[in-house]
Amino acid sequence: MNITCNFVTDFVELYHENLVSPETALAIRSHLKTCTNCRNYYREYQIIKNRKSAPAVNILLNNEDISETEERLCANLSKRLRRRRFLELVGTSAVIGAGSVMLTIGLFLTFKNSDNN
Ligand SMILES: [Zn+2]
Repeated sequence: MNITCNFVTDFVELYHENLVSPETALAIRSHLKTCTNCRNYYREYQIIKNRKSAPAVNILLNNEDISETEERLCANLSKRLRRRRFLELVGTSAVIGAGSVMLTIGLFLTFKNSDNN
């Protein structure tokens, strides 16, 4: 199978991904052996492809890390907020409770004092 340089540049991606037929792969491989231009082209293609795919994987992993950390942070934050809101609620009730107890005692004492007089 005789192929042209255009054929190689057109199919270089499919060839790289092993998506061409064995005959086409063989033809491209033998063309690359004899054609310096196509060999250089394929080498550049591989470099670009590797450079592109490597950071993509990293970004994906980083995103997973970030979302996991974010999830954990959100869970911690909501837990902390819930606890704080609970404490605030308890604190407010305690203040109101103490206040009403003191008010009751005060009223009781006032009435008691006025009864005596
Ligand atoms: Zn060529």
